[in-house]
Amino acid sequence: MTNPEPVETVEIRWRCPFCNKGYASKYTGRSHIEQCWHNPAVQACRTCGHWGGNVVKGQRDNDCYLNAKPDAYSAVKGCPVWTEIVTPS
Ligand SMILES: [Zn+2]
Repeated sequence: MTNPEPVETVEIRWRCPFCNKGYASKYTGRSHIEQCWHNPAVQACRTCGHWGGNVVKGQRDNDCYLNAKPDAYSAVKGCPVWTEIVTPS
């Protein structure tokens, strides 16, 4: 008698087009996209022209040039002063 072998399987995963995070269900992936810091439609610090640095996990982020969120410990979403990042051409 031979030893049983593992069975090959292929799984479908759902990925955020902005940050590449993966999800087992399309529904949870869609929920993430609506909140993703890298989605410009969320108008969060990561995609804002006023943001100038790196967010250090667990630390206050004071990298907003307008200081729009001085007491926040996480990036603002739906910021009223959010602006597109302008890249020099
Ligand atoms: Zn994402």
